[in-house]
Amino acid sequence: MQYFFETYGCQMNKAESAALENCLQERGWAAAAQPEAADLVVINTCSVRLTAENRAWGRISHFAALKKQRAFIMVVTGCMAERLKEAMRQKQPAIDYVLGNFQKQAFGLIIDAAAQGRVLAAVEESPRFVFASRHEESGSFKAFVPIMHGCNNFCSYCIVPYVRGREISRHPLAILAELDRMAEHQVREVTLLGQNVNSYCWQDGFSQITGDQLSGQAPDQAGGQRTAAQADLRQRLANGPLDFPGLLDWLAQSLAGRGIGRIRFVSSHPKDLSDATIAVLAAHPVFARHIHLCVQHGSDRVLAAMNRQYSVQSYRDLVARVRAQLPDVSLSTDILVGFPGETEADLEATLDLLRDLRFAYAYMYFFNPREGTPAAAMPGQLSTAVKKERLARVIELQRDISRQVMRASLGRIFPVLVESTSRKSDSEVLGRTEQDMMAVFPGEARLVGSFVNVRLDSLRGNTFKATLVS
Ligand code: SF4
Repeated sequence: MQYFFETYGCQMNKAESAALENCLQERGWAAAAQPEAADLVVINTCSVRLTAENRAWGRISHFAALKKQRAFIMVVTGCMAERLKEAMRQKQPAIDYVLGNFQKQAFGLIIDAAAQGRVLAAVEESPRFVFASRHEESGSFKAFVPIMHGCNNFCSYCIVPYVRGREISRHPLAILAELDRMAEHQVREVTLLGQNVNSYCWQDGFSQITGDQLSGQAPDQAGGQRTAAQADLRQRLANGPLDFPGLLDWLAQSLAGRGIGRIRFVSSHPKDLSDATIAVLAAHPVFARHIHLCVQHGSDRVLAAMNRQYSVQSYRDLVARVRAQLPDVSLSTDILVGFPGETEADLEATLDLLRDLRFAYAYMYFFNPREGTPAAAMPGQLSTAVKKERLARVIELQRDISRQVMRASLGRIFPVLVESTSRKSDSEVLGRTEQDMMAVFPGEARLVGSFVNVRLDSLRGNTFKATLVS
């Protein structure tokens, strides 16, 4: 039996698709090279932007047309499935399953039925989000590991809390078990994922976890090192809940010497990035010196309307503390312009913030109202022309700053994780610094998946030309 996946949106969606693919592969399914050959098509959707939903609708219609020529099972999952639920099936009856975010644990039953040529009449919804046990893509040396799910923040423009629900943290032993397994499978870099990782909090005390959460491996089968990690966790939990810095510190100590050379995390909400977290990052070099810290805007008035729950000054102070503790850190951010009621002065404040804080890069967008969020109904909506013109000014400035920030690294030596061979030349490879800068340099394909040191010699576009030094 063969399957085909299409995934839209964030890293969390990609990790969740990898978990569903693992479920298929464990049952003997294989990836189809072409969707036309698949017995099962899964479309994992995103609701953050209307354009992502429209793209997914286009693909659903395409697969519905294919179904008229040959039979296969079509599953639509992810945030759009959660948002629209049965309305999706009414709009497109060719969909066999609309699987919301709290129904993914039923995927095993769905594919068992599909293997027998059956379609289940109904799929149960779990009262709590259920984390999959394995999110690794087979053969990959980089992986994404969800540590929490959902969001309590309700930024006024964002649909995530409505489709992902309230924050729930994953059992620390389940996180460690997954990282252990990845280390055994030669994964060298992991990214801890959550809508707001800084608010990770395990409050349920110490408890063993089930074999299922551990991918079939009981904690005491994992050897003496794991016993020590459990004893350490039990001790920490005796003193109260395990928060994000506590989790990072425990993971760094428990994973030492296991082969995972770099740990990243996204997304970070500025109001929750604590001094304790900064101190833990500074204490453990395994954490990459890069933080994506979404500021969104440079005007207090707009930040308040966005319900971001921090001020521009508190964000500036946070950046200063991060840079003081982590001198090699690079910071990136998100900027959202054209929010309802934004004035020229608000935009100027945002440009000033970019000039002052000099982010390495930024993801920049203009406001697009999302149906069902408070901001969509706010007065003072701006025209698309104004939003585009303001965004262009922000992009132009940040592009300039990014180049200046990158140029400041020329001549320096950085460790990189080699990610692939170059598309342009077989004799060159592409590596990523912990600061999230890309460098291309002469090297053999066997280096892919290993850490090497390179000197950054020159800059072409957003990629450095470099030389291997060890
Ligand atoms: S922090 Fe705000 S922008 Fe991020 S997921 Fe939560 S509500 Fe959305």
